[in-house]
Amino acid sequence: ATPTSIMVGTGRGAEMGVLFRKGDALQVLAEVDTIALDKTGTLTAGRPEVTDLDVFNGWSQADALRLVASVEAQSEHPIASAILRHAEKQGLSLAAVTSFASQTGHGVHAEVEGRRVLVGADRFMQAEGVSLAAAEGRSAAWGAEGKTPLFAAVDGALVAMIGVADPIKETTPQALEALHEAGLKIAMITGDNKATAQAIADRLGIDTVVAEVLPDGKVAALEDLQQAGHKVAFVGDGINDAPALAGVDVGIAIGTGTDVAIEAADVVLMSGDLQGVVNALHISQHTMRNIR
Ligand code: ADP
Ligand code: MG
Repeated sequence: ATPTSIMVGTGRGAEMGVLFRKGDALQVLAEVDTIALDKTGTLTAGRPEVTDLDVFNGWSQADALRLVASVEAQSEHPIASAILRHAEKQGLSLAAVTSFASQTGHGVHAEVEGRRVLVGADRFMQAEGVSLAAAEGRSAAWGAEGKTPLFAAVDGALVAMIGVADPIKETTPQALEALHEAGLKIAMITGDNKATAQAIADRLGIDTVVAEVLPDGKVAALEDLQQAGHKVAFVGDGINDAPALAGVDVGIAIGTGTDVAIEAADVVLMSGDLQGVVNALHISQHTMRNIR
């Protein structure tokens, strides 16, 4: 591409709220055949809400929620904010916690009033030896509805299962349709559980799903796609997306996302709307078509 055409394309992008931070991103994007997207905060609003709360082993909703919220008050995860808002609505006052620790992509734990409290994904509970047998049926049903089932245990026994839902952004279906029409394959890469991820992917007509991955797992999933011969763009917003954004052929950050993600990306969308990905693609294809 000539420097002039790159300049024109970059300027056109800026007018449409698409910042090409590196000149060659404009060229490489035209060759991309696969768009991989993070789920939470990229396809969805990134503002989950508590939708359900089941309790076990004789616990009351209020007692279980109070312990869970006390632990989550120490976490900055969007799921933690959802649980805190829910506890506040019930007028619950939080207990003091000690020995708080969080395990990336799995959950959190702490001591509360002399008890060991765990909150997180099913795989986290299983690793800690907590039996989820009593919750299995309901948890599968929530997953199929696109809700994320979270579990809470006190001193090794299940006390609650919490359903959390994050709405799909209004503009997402139309943007994905346009990407499909442009002949691209669409993949979802997420730390959320498999059933939930698959339910949302089905609703959106997404072709491939990689779920329950840690930040390194996102990088590995993208490398698998590249090794299969694909040119890949990855769209993400979170701190946990930064390594993937930096490593992929074209990293596209959502402008409403975290600074770490924006720093790592080749292209930044000024809005949180995935129509920006479609615009970026069109600008890049148009620029390269005029050159060849
Ligand atoms: P995503 O790619 O969806 O942003 P994360 O890697 O941040 O996913 O989290 C993956 C999963 O880990 C969550 O779906 C949840 O099950 C669990 N998890 C992470 N942090 C917390 C927390 N503070 N409380 C409860 N569960 C958590
Ligand atoms: Mg995200």
